[in-house]
Amino acid sequence: MGVGRLLRWCLLHAAGVNLNPRTALTVPVGLSRAGAEHHQEVAMTSTAAVSMPSSEAEAVAAVTEQPFATVLAGGTLLVPQHTLGQVAVERAVWLGRAEMDGISRSNGRMTVGAAAPLAACTRLDAPIGPCAANIGDNEVKAQATIGGNICSPAPYGDLRGPLLALGAILRWADPDGTHTGGIADFAASGGARPGVLILDVAFAVPEAGSFVALRRHHTQSLTAMSVSAVRGANGAVTIAATGAAPDACRLYAAEAVLADGGSIADAAAASASDADPYDDVLASAAYRSRVLPVYVGRALEQLGE
Ligand SMILES: Cc1cc2nc3c(=O)[nH]c(=O)nc-3n(C[C@H](O)[C@H](O)[C@H](O)COP(=O)(O)OP(=O)(O)OC[C@H]3O[C@@H](n4cnc5c(N)ncnc54)[C@H](O)[C@@H]3O)c2cc1C
Repeated sequence: MGVGRLLRWCLLHAAGVNLNPRTALTVPVGLSRAGAEHHQEVAMTSTAAVSMPSSEAEAVAAVTEQPFATVLAGGTLLVPQHTLGQVAVERAVWLGRAEMDGISRSNGRMTVGAAAPLAACTRLDAPIGPCAANIGDNEVKAQATIGGNICSPAPYGDLRGPLLALGAILRWADPDGTHTGGIADFAASGGARPGVLILDVAFAVPEAGSFVALRRHHTQSLTAMSVSAVRGANGAVTIAATGAAPDACRLYAAEAVLADGGSIADAAAASASDADPYDDVLASAAYRSRVLPVYVGRALEQLGE
């Protein structure tokens, strides 16, 4: 069974087409211990298997038990990478049936399941909603998940910017148990790799949020730079950018200017000190340097600072 067929099946599933996996995919019953004990398995390639847990607990067990499995969420990045031979996947765990796609709000906090599709995230307030809306086309948004986006390396992973600005807390499982921490903590722990499963992401609902992005006018183009700003319940403003440095970064100096009562223009000018501009196919370092203060200014104006 090729991964292309799996992706087509996933896309049809996301579109609401009721496909029976037993007829749509080969089911090598008893192929692995995990599959025999917990859930169905389907062949991904002749040497890899995709298991389909039906709960978060099953997903954790399937990902973290030996041999560690690779998480397959929407597959919009992993499947092409696998097809092109850029990543080796021996065992994959598909989250499409793990019921990890809920979005809930309670006591002023929003919790988003790792398998929530970007299409659902577009309905959230800024900066998450407009950032999710800015990613790919409708097909990508229907299939791709917030957990997959967090784990996608730059120039992907647009949502890491808004989540940094929001001070979002991830919950993830690995063979040592369940952990919580920010985006930077997750990266410092080793980030996305076989044996690690992000479960959900939570953040305090901000008083206000804004999102400004630099991209070309084509639904499939990638975001060269974005700035997310958030005003929390205590009135403090936090700002984060993607594309200003090799990975998403907080703009602490600009935040400090605002905290000291400085103007938007002063905060925008200060943003350069947290940036590390770089050249790639999307934009030059010089261009990024010029655009960052402009976008910080626009994000703060949107925020009503
Ligand atoms: C046409 C097109 C346009 C795109 N445009 C953009 C764009 O503008 N901006 C952008 O940021 N990205 C873009 N992408 C990249 C990608 O689609 C997104 O980043 C998407 O959100 C990835 O999510 P996914 O669920 O499909 O992840 P997958 O492809 O399933 O997985 C991606 C990686 O994350 C890991 N992973 C997934 N979920 C979890 C989890 N819960 N726990 C641990 N690891 C996990 C996988 O193992 C894999 O390493 C685009 C892709 C395409 C095909």
